[in-house]
Amino acid sequence: MAKARRGRIGLVVLGSTGTIGRLTLEVAKRHPERIRVVGLSAHRQGSRLARQATEHHPEVVALPDGEPLRGFRSAVGARWGGEILTGPDALTRAATWPGAAVVVNGIVGAAGLSPSLATLAAGRRLALANKESLVMAGELLIATRDAHGGELIPVDSEHSAIHQCLAGRAPGELERIILTASGGPFRTLDAEALSKVTPEEALAHPTWNMGPRITVDSATMLNKGMELIEAHWLFGLPMERLAVWIHPESIVHGLIEMRDGSLLAQLSCPDMRLPIQLAISHPERWEPAVPRCDLTSLDPLTFHAPDVERFPCLSLARQAARAGGTAPAVLNAADEVLVAAFLAGRISFPDIPMGLTDVLSDHTPTADPTLEEILAADATARPAAEQYVRRAGSRHPRRSG
Ligand code: MG
Repeated sequence: MAKARRGRIGLVVLGSTGTIGRLTLEVAKRHPERIRVVGLSAHRQGSRLARQATEHHPEVVALPDGEPLRGFRSAVGARWGGEILTGPDALTRAATWPGAAVVVNGIVGAAGLSPSLATLAAGRRLALANKESLVMAGELLIATRDAHGGELIPVDSEHSAIHQCLAGRAPGELERIILTASGGPFRTLDAEALSKVTPEEALAHPTWNMGPRITVDSATMLNKGMELIEAHWLFGLPMERLAVWIHPESIVHGLIEMRDGSLLAQLSCPDMRLPIQLAISHPERWEPAVPRCDLTSLDPLTFHAPDVERFPCLSLARQAARAGGTAPAVLNAADEVLVAAFLAGRISFPDIPMGLTDVLSDHTPTADPTLEEILAADATARPAAEQYVRRAGSRHPRRSG
């Protein structure tokens, strides 16, 4: 499937008005002879979706009823006449639209899970940027892929790097996988300074330009912890064979260590258009998605081990992965609530890992969960995290006004 030679690739972009979605449409625009945009979806930005629809002419768009739909209709007017999907199954119907060969899932949060499953159940290629899909339901996602002949290609830069390094290698040759991490904006701060950081400081990421939740997750390093869980499912290795190296320059995105000690790495300038394009073009490589990366003109590349005492989220993610079942879904849901509370000035930065520890320790995971059990665990973790926020907020009333 998805061969450019046999006509254009039908592309659905879920979360098309977000960071990944907009970059995906840039890639599509650069390859009009190879890519045909079939479907788009948005959650809030109806008028931006309207601009995208008039530019890319998809057959279908999906968006929530109410304000987003009204904004879309009034902005699009008569300049686009495709099908509009709303309601609970809008995203899964868009993902499985006839003629869609590749679905880029750039939705933020747990809402991305159902369309991921639907894409793989329909035997399509899922170009996955929605971390929550693998974190919440890795086992279910892999089983769905294997049962229906779909393809799962990672868009996350680290996993794209590993996917590239592993191409054509026998699993027995592999010793371990190393994901790199920029370390976020606070990697040099001590515990005292970390307790005083503000949302504005957390949102200023040194190398990547991303949405607010993932940027805060990069600052706590839970993002890297979630990426360890993703790597576990994508590449089938136990947590002990997955490592993290801090690499502030974000040029080396991932490495694999072979049995004989050889290290293979993937390097490129930090720009998500490369992993997005590759997830669509794979196994082909198209003309440069990003400026070429001249290592001789860059600062020296540095690497060091992460400090799990200052950044306990890495260990928390490993803990949740080892507990298995519904535990990673609980970690993810609690984090969504805690990050929102931090951004609203209701809790301090160290409250994020403390709240995660609190919610996780109260959860008894269900093994081999169904989708319903995963969503139920997600739904109970949110009020539990909210309870922690209220307790912590009354302890530190610093910004709660
Ligand atoms: Mg990443």
